[in-house]
Amino acid sequence: MLISAEQIRARVSELAQQINRDMAGKNPLFLVMLNGAFMFAADLLKQINIPCEISFVKYASYCGTQSSGRLNKLIGLKESLRDRCIVILEDIVDSGLTMSRLLDEIKAKKPAELHVATCALKPEALNSELELDYVGFSLPNVFLVGYGLDYGGYGRNLEAIYELKS
Ligand code: 5GP
Ligand code: MG
Repeated sequence: MLISAEQIRARVSELAQQINRDMAGKNPLFLVMLNGAFMFAADLLKQINIPCEISFVKYASYCGTQSSGRLNKLIGLKESLRDRCIVILEDIVDSGLTMSRLLDEIKAKKPAELHVATCALKPEALNSELELDYVGFSLPNVFLVGYGLDYGGYGRNLEAIYELKS
């Protein structure tokens, strides 16, 4: 196990408190990136105590344990993002490709502010310049499972984060 459920709970609470402070008065729209971010988002958003909206989007990009390098269309986005304060909730930023493409797409919709909260980051794998406002954990460049992260569809329900050993 890399990160225990207890460690996750403590860190998610810290992030929620930071976001409550930073986003006060901004009526943020949280965009939850399905599927992976569902658990992080649920735990975090329960502790958000300012007025906000929540929407769910999906941007498939990952196949097995290797990033496919290309992204499918963003689906599920019904709200207008124009002049809104947007906070993207993501499970993990690995190479950063998914996030940089997503940020480009969202910026084109002219939000007032655009922020990113990711549960995990692999700093050694990152090869785009990204501004990540909130990072739960910086983790080694290994394949992770649990707390929303799957391996072939399994393991998302685990309450801790594990390294997949082949
Ligand atoms: P990136 O485009 O940054 O390389 O990859 C981002 C996406 O790939 C994440 O949103 C996540 O869905 C998936 N991903 C990246 N690393 C891992 C990992 O270690 N385990 C799992 N299960 N998914 C990962
Ligand atoms: Mg994801």
